[in-house]
Amino acid sequence: MTPLFYDRDKTVRNSNSLVVRAPACYRGARNEAAVQFELELLSIPQAKAPRVVASAVLRKHRLRNDVLRRVNYVRRFFPELEGETITVGLTRAASGMAVPGGSRIWLNPSRLSYHTIAHELIHLLQLRNLGIPSGEKACDVFSLARHWTLNDDRPSYVRVPLSVIDGSSPVGEAVSRMLYDVACDALVRRADGHRRYLAYFESEVERRSPALASRENRASVELSKSLLT
Ligand SMILES: [Zn+2]
Repeated sequence: MTPLFYDRDKTVRNSNSLVVRAPACYRGARNEAAVQFELELLSIPQAKAPRVVASAVLRKHRLRNDVLRRVNYVRRFFPELEGETITVGLTRAASGMAVPGGSRIWLNPSRLSYHTIAHELIHLLQLRNLGIPSGEKACDVFSLARHWTLNDDRPSYVRVPLSVIDGSSPVGEAVSRMLYDVACDALVRRADGHRRYLAYFESEVERRSPALASRENRASVELSKSLLT
């Protein structure tokens, strides 16, 4: 039976192993590859309208249009799914669910983020010989490396200090960009044969977080001051 991935609230059940190959977009120099990847992705929305459809249950939900609009946005950054119809259903058991290698995801409209959608779409790319390994932490890092605008929520599996993302306040742009940069670096390292790229991601995020945390705090203090005057 194909394992289901339940995110956040459910225990992960997956033991599939894959032949691991780095995606072409992450090979070569980090900056050049990242910039090229970004440019290619940004040109895709005009090329062809992505296909996302609601399940019968989602079609009856009052937030269906919001859910579909968000999935359509995230899907722009998944050229691997070009030409496929993705069906979006509802779940209340977790933030999201997906069948790895499949074409169906389930989302919880009451706590939906771009990050959750990106994470579930990465699951769809697993088991397809695209160089995306199985595992939840890998899924987090691969999703954080798609585009910085998708990094709007606390990842469920990789460790990120609460000082930069506490799970309740909005994620600042500097933090979203930092997560994107470090995730891209981690994937370049993986492509170069480093097996501890997930540990690198967590330690590098921890190393960069104090400076960002103080910056975010200063920004919120300044905002409070401006609201008081
Ligand atoms: Zn997952």
